[in-house]
Amino acid sequence: MSKLSWRREKVWGWGHAVGGEAELIQPRNSEEIAQAFAESRGSCGIALRGSGCSYGDAATNSGGRILDLRGMNRLLEFDAKRGIIRAEPGLSIRDLWRHALPAGYWPAVVPGTMEVSLGGAAAMNIHGKNNFAVGSFGEHVEEFTLLTPAGESLRCNRQQNEEVFHAAIGGFGMLGCITELTLHLKKVYSGRMRVWAIPCRDLDDGLRLLEDLRDEADYLVGWVDMHARGAQLGRGLLHRGDQLAQGEDPEGEKMLDPSRQDLPGVLLGCVPKSWIWPGMWMATRCGAIPWVNALRYRSGMKKSWDSPYLESHAAFHFLLDYVPRWHWAFRPGGLIQFQPFVPKAAASRVLRKLIESCQQKRLLPYLGVLKRHRPDPFLMTHGLDGFSMAMDFAVPTRQSRRIELWRHCQEMAELVLNAGGRFYYAKDAILAADCMARIHGEDSLQSFVDLKQRLDPEGLMQSDLWRRLSAS
Ligand SMILES: Cc1cc2nc3c(=O)[nH]c(=O)nc-3n(C[C@H](O)[C@H](O)[C@H](O)COP(=O)(O)OP(=O)(O)OC[C@H]3O[C@@H](n4cnc5c(N)ncnc54)[C@H](O)[C@@H]3O)c2cc1C
Repeated sequence: MSKLSWRREKVWGWGHAVGGEAELIQPRNSEEIAQAFAESRGSCGIALRGSGCSYGDAATNSGGRILDLRGMNRLLEFDAKRGIIRAEPGLSIRDLWRHALPAGYWPAVVPGTMEVSLGGAAAMNIHGKNNFAVGSFGEHVEEFTLLTPAGESLRCNRQQNEEVFHAAIGGFGMLGCITELTLHLKKVYSGRMRVWAIPCRDLDDGLRLLEDLRDEADYLVGWVDMHARGAQLGRGLLHRGDQLAQGEDPEGEKMLDPSRQDLPGVLLGCVPKSWIWPGMWMATRCGAIPWVNALRYRSGMKKSWDSPYLESHAAFHFLLDYVPRWHWAFRPGGLIQFQPFVPKAAASRVLRKLIESCQQKRLLPYLGVLKRHRPDPFLMTHGLDGFSMAMDFAVPTRQSRRIELWRHCQEMAELVLNAGGRFYYAKDAILAADCMARIHGEDSLQSFVDLKQRLDPEGLMQSDLWRRLSAS
């Protein structure tokens, strides 16, 4: 067998704020992954990478090696009667729904972008706008095959290798490589959903609506204007999406055609999508974000008068994909996301404090997103009975300001951890080494470390995230 040819390049997290040089290959099958593991013993370790949509350093490995799994993207089997698919890990959520929707199925859990791979979704145990109702991605995985660094192929489900099943889902690629997975999809009868836009006058109003509607809504997500102050602090706009029942939408079946889901090439009827990120770039440079937010809040009021309205699944879920390369607007510093998960009882107090501290320090996120969550059965979970508030920060180019932003996020993390909160590693770039034990508890962390030691005794699976969080 000839040796694999690794190429060296700079690999970034999705936010382009953190990253480093690494050697890469794109394996085409499990044999090549096993060969890559064998060839890399004694090196600086291997990280796995799906579509590279983790904002921070979960899929980067400075000075080491990376397996880019996008080449393993075959859909292996689709049972259109039961809504079950078996696929390779590099298959994207986009390719999945495009294949399944004509048969009346949609992935049970999707993130805010359809670029994410199934392997990355399982390894981070992603959540959707329906986390409070259907749980996390892993709860819809029936089974997967894990290739361990020692070259063993483990079939993992709720009966077989059950411990590995619950640790590799949400185990951020540290236990081995998922080489195929079987997933349950959910039945849909229309290609559209019924959607409401509901203005929230302040943070508590947003939290109350998320709480009150969770027994009746299918999806809930709140946008927060992080710049509003005083009595309006935390004001925003909640979007509720409900699936349509069979026969409810006369056009429903026609809308199952993937071409009917395609996002329009222009916004507001005339603005080409490709103009949006330069526009955003200007807005961030000119300090216009507060005005943009105020405008958004007001236009949301108008949308609420037109509610409910019908919207395609793709338009509802993948709003961020409307604007290609929108994260370029934050070049050259890039962006980071800070997404604390706070227990229900502490949410109002802690989230208010976070917004206030951003405003006091003039380190304001340009975007805030609220969601309602529930606990799940995975070892390294970020799920809890409470709320998350994702905050996107543009990273200043000046080093001193960058350090200030990191310090600010670390101070906010203290508030969250002291309140019993958690963090989601797909979005992290700032947590310090002791945080993992505080999030999961010493016992759970030790179980994970023991399992890693068993499956990966040489510590081959690595990433910048793991080195940062497990440093002693
Ligand atoms: C615009 C945007 C919106 C987002 N919205 C949401 C959201 O609403 N909800 C949410 O939960 N997340 C969201 N995310 C985050 C995203 O869903 C996660 O970061 C996800 O893990 C990315 O998948 P990926 O394929 O890009 O994986 P990568 O980012 O490339 O990798 C993620 C992790 O998975 C591991 N991994 C990848 N493939 C495998 C494999 N085959 N076997 C084992 N481990 C593997 C990697 O080592 C890494 O630790 C969003 C991201 C973006 C950019």
